[in-house]
This record gives sequence, structure tokens and C-alpha cells, in this order.
Amino acid sequence: MSTVHETTLEIDLKALEHNYKFLRSKLAKDVELMGVVKAFGYGSESSEVAKKMSELGVGYFAVAYTKEGVSLRDDGITESILVLHPQSINFQEIIERCLEPSIYSEYVLREFIKTAEKLGQKDYPIHLKLNTGLNRLGFIENELETIFDYLNKTSSVKVKSIFSHLAASEDWREREFTLQQLGKFRKMAFKLFENLKYRPLLHISNTSAIINYPEAAFDMVRSGIGLYGFGNDEKINKNLKPIGTLKTIISQIHHLAAGESVGYNRAFTAIEKTKTATLPIGHADGINRQYGNGRGGVYIKDQYAPIIGNVCMDMIMIDITGIECEEGDEVILFGGPQHATKFATSGNTISYELITGISQRVKRHIIK
Ligand SMILES: *Cc1c(COP(=O)(O)O)cnc(C)c1O
Repeated sequence: MSTVHETTLEIDLKALEHNYKFLRSKLAKDVELMGVVKAFGYGSESSEVAKKMSELGVGYFAVAYTKEGVSLRDDGITESILVLHPQSINFQEIIERCLEPSIYSEYVLREFIKTAEKLGQKDYPIHLKLNTGLNRLGFIENELETIFDYLNKTSSVKVKSIFSHLAASEDWREREFTLQQLGKFRKMAFKLFENLKYRPLLHISNTSAIINYPEAAFDMVRSGIGLYGFGNDEKINKNLKPIGTLKTIISQIHHLAAGESVGYNRAFTAIEKTKTATLPIGHADGINRQYGNGRGGVYIKDQYAPIIGNVCMDMIMIDITGIECEEGDEVILFGGPQHATKFATSGNTISYELITGISQRVKRHIIK
């Protein structure tokens, strides 16, 4: 870790390597690991993270939107890229940039075939998304016949993989539901196999399923949060290293007398002599208002300082009474002394939302 002079999200690629190796150790040799780098690599830096993963042997990436795949291509990523949630308006660009669409509805299948035929494609790789209970995207069982009808009439596309997504792979109380999803997936995939004259890859597992349902790894797993260092479980977190540390500095220190207030709407009032610090980070940077008024806190030289008053757009104020520090000193929001999961919990949310919410305004510093 280094010292910063402004708000900075440090991204440690060594930690990424550690997490990759841990997750890989849970998988059989012939199972492929797809690196999920959507949402700027879960708020880190998607291209840097993808380059590191490709060095480590990852041959497949996933993004949510077409734009994210295009940006990886612009940055020189040449591996296969699955676009999990494309729209028909993106299909020409998907083909032009060699991205691979998730096909999740009859409409999307029909429109993609139209575009592939128009552009003279043969066997263009597509990925069929099955809905096994999440009820978000995907075909249900009685739509499989329709898929066959379309596929039998064209040679423009070829099914490279069949996949689905689990609703609660991290939650043991939902074990029965997850097993039902796996059963449905096997049944639907088998029907598809019977009708296609080749065997596409199968995948359903996200990070928590890699750990909790090793029998569901099939040909490939899709890992996001685990690579970034979070396991949705304290025991698994012990084996992972969060790759991001969010740091800022003290802009100004104030000495308040009892009765003085701090910030908008005077949400904090000092009941005794209080020393406060103002930090250059606010809700426009992803530190949302729910962390205000004492719910969240930060660390200065390993000492805890609560956020006081309302979070502003570009600033927060903290109570540093009794902490020896000066203007310019470093402050850590998460990483190091405070696990991001703990910070997220203080604001009533989860690590996924916290880390993907750190806005693009915050400087990223990559540590190789
Ligand atoms: C985001 C996403 C993943 C990755 O899930 P993690 O829990 O972060 O490992 C996998 N598959 C799909 C369809 C996703 O949307």
C-alpha cells in the first residue's frame, strides 16, 4: 500500500492473483473459469483486471452490456467475451467487434439471426440463457421447441454454450431451491443436446456456487465477486483478499465548541468540545447518504472515526476527537483496517453494491 494525496481507489493485482489461484484450486483442471468483468470490473478497472486475468490463464470474459465489451476490445483484450445482457440494437456492433451474445428470449434469438444472416455470418457463436427459477432472463422449458425451429432453419449461428444463473447459491437455507434449479438445468440442457448435433458447453455457477456446489461446475464457471476478493461468507472471506482499498486524505480540521453544528441541515451537533475533519469524498463518489450520521466510519492511523452529519455530494465530515492527526493525513474507508463487507453492512448494503458504486470520478491506482 502506498500513501495517497487525493481520493484514490488502489487496485492490487497481486491480490487478484491470490483470489484466482484460490478459486482455481476448487475446480477440476478441465473446468474453464470465466472472469466476470462487468461494471468496470466490479468498480475496479476492467481492462487492467482482464489483462491480469488473461496472464493468469483466463480465456473467457463476461460483461453485462455491449458497450463494456467494446471498451475491452478497444483496450486490446482479444479473448472471447460473453455479453450477458445485450439489446437488439447492439447486434451489428456485437458481430463487428467479435463479442458473443447471451440469447435469452425468442425476440432476441430472431433478431440476432436476422443480423447474422444480413452480415453473412456462418456458425456465429451464441450462448443460450435458460431461466431455471431466477425469473430474470432466459428461456423456460416449453420454449425449447421454438429454439429448435429457429436453429434448424439457419446456419448463421452456432450454440457455443448453454447456461443459467442461480438465485441463492450463497444461502444454505435455500439449498433445496438451488438443487431444483440444477435439476431443471440438467433436464433442459439434455433436451437441447438431443436436438443439436453437437455439444455446447454448460455453465451455471457463480462464485458462491464454486464453493458450495462443486458438483455444478459442469464445463465452466463464471466468477466475479470472488476474483475481487469477496466470498459472501466469513469463512470463505478468510481465503480471499479484497483487491480494492479506498483511501482519501484530511482536507481540513475544525475545533468545535459545544453546541456548534456540522454540515447540511445541521444534522450533527457537538455536545462537548469536538475535533472534526472534512474529507474530499461524498455521495457522488459512491459513499451514499446511508453511511452518514454515525452509521459508517473510517480509519486514520488504525483508529476509528465515525462519519458525522449528512453525507454531502463531494465531502464527508468525521469526528476525530482524541485522534492525533493533521491536515493531509491519510484516511482509509475500506480495505486494510476495515473490510469492505463491514463498511457495506454499516450502510445497510452488500459488498457488490459498495464496490461497483465507487464512481468513475475517483482516481484508480493499479498496483502490479
Ligand atoms: C454477475 C454475474 C455473475 C458473477 O457472479 P458473482 O457472484 O459475482 O461471482 C455470473 N453470472 C451472471 C449471469 C451474472 O450476472
